[in-house]
Amino acid sequence: MKISAAFVTSAASAADFPSDGLSEVALVGRSNVGKSSLINALTRRRVARTSAAPGKTRLANIYSVARGSSGAFYLVDLPGYGYARGGAESAQEFADLTRAYFGREGPDGQESRVGNLAPSSVAALLLVDCRHPGLDSDRRAWAWLRKTVAGTAVVATKVDKLARGRRIRALRELESVFEDSVLPVSAVTGEGLDELWTLIDKLANSRNLNRRSNSRSRPPRVTAPWPSKKVLPPPKR
Ligand code: GDP
Repeated sequence: MKISAAFVTSAASAADFPSDGLSEVALVGRSNVGKSSLINALTRRRVARTSAAPGKTRLANIYSVARGSSGAFYLVDLPGYGYARGGAESAQEFADLTRAYFGREGPDGQESRVGNLAPSSVAALLLVDCRHPGLDSDRRAWAWLRKTVAGTAVVATKVDKLARGRRIRALRELESVFEDSVLPVSAVTGEGLDELWTLIDKLANSRNLNRRSNSRSRPPRVTAPWPSKKVLPPPKR
């Protein structure tokens, strides 16, 4: 299937976010979790810059992506969190930009895109390293996303690094921690990428998934497209 992908901009504040109404799928995760690698693997080109030195990107990198006959949408690579070198200041920057992104607020808390089209849907994929299930920062991010964003799913990166037995245990633990299906992927071997595309297509084409930061009611969740019966019960203690 033909995939087109292009870098659009690096956003430092809400004013820089897209304003043409296309759907957006944001990638959220710790620094070094493999977001850039995953964007490149999904789009089959080096559209995103990867780095062995984590914690450097504090901007949201935005890519315009289209696959097959599906309409174009934006993949939004939000700044990674949980990296110590940047200290409290970078944690705050992450929080501010991420809140601004999902809430679409300007620095003074006002809606910053008045007159612009809001995206028809905004969804978030939480990326977690399959080798580190249940980190506090990931749990906090998931709890916050579930409250804030209508379409959410968890993706476990770098599964090629785990042998079969450890992988099964890690996935079981992840699904128990996040109380949801977790899709295992590898940017290196390409495992899980077809399933991830199916999930992204579904999230990007859900018209009713508007942000809900000001809403107390919970909009319908997008269910994972991979078979949920594969989900194993949590381990007995
Ligand atoms: P980001 O900070 O989340 O954008 O992470 P990067 O994409 O820059 O990846 C961080 C490091 O993890 C790099 O050294 C990548 O080569 C490595 N990496 C990313 N994805 C994978 C994967 O699926 N498998 C393996 N083995 N390494 C990966």
